[in-house]
Amino acid sequence: MITLRSQREIEKIRKACHIVAEILQRLKERIHPGITTLELDALSEELALKHKAKPAFKGYHGFPFSLCASVNEEVVHGMPSRTRRLAEGDIVSLDFGVVVDGYYGDSAVTVPVGKISDEAERLRRVAEESLYAGIGQAVVGNRLSDISHAIQELVESRGYSVVREFVGHGIGQHLHESPQIPNYGQPGKGVKLKPGMVFAIEPMINMGGAAVEILEDRWTAVTVDRSLSAHFEHTMAVTQNGPDILSRL
Ligand code: MG
Ligand code: MG
Repeated sequence: MITLRSQREIEKIRKACHIVAEILQRLKERIHPGITTLELDALSEELALKHKAKPAFKGYHGFPFSLCASVNEEVVHGMPSRTRRLAEGDIVSLDFGVVVDGYYGDSAVTVPVGKISDEAERLRRVAEESLYAGIGQAVVGNRLSDISHAIQELVESRGYSVVREFVGHGIGQHLHESPQIPNYGQPGKGVKLKPGMVFAIEPMINMGGAAVEILEDRWTAVTVDRSLSAHFEHTMAVTQNGPDILSRL
């Protein structure tokens, strides 16, 4: 069942999302060659506490960190590391969430480290563009898979592939709620979209094949062919006036 959120609830989700957006912005500013992903994790936690917000991922199914930091061929759920230093030319997906007053916000960006290759920058841009293509279909009267289809079509038309194993999701009083929102599929399927639905839409796209595998740490997902991967995510509400992106500053 998909919970329909009142305007008052949407404002609470927006509050959590704004904190996430601000923290992602601060992390972005701190990224430079040589910084470790564990330093970024510590900073994300410190900033969350400053905002009186609780990091949403820490302890979630036992995940030990506040931030997911996925570098290059890492797709999602990258574990912050004391030894992994970001290097010039890397791309890193920063995925962060908080809970405030019982409501969750969730967002992700893929950030360049120093100067990156044109190929990596193009992948990054297409991933972000595909997020907005999906959000553009999150309108009253459309069906859920119209979001999925728009993402897949855009990504594949640019010669990249869409990850199948991880999906977008409903969000509100839990980090992950119904429905699941795949980033691929035929249009016109699934539930009809109604005002008050709140979704975290999050395409993950690969430069090579779509296949991913999980590393021995049991969290980090990487591309099987070790090609680059990029990930963007916004939390948004379906409204009578069109998509309302809650995790935008
Ligand atoms: Mg996320
Ligand atoms: Mg999410």
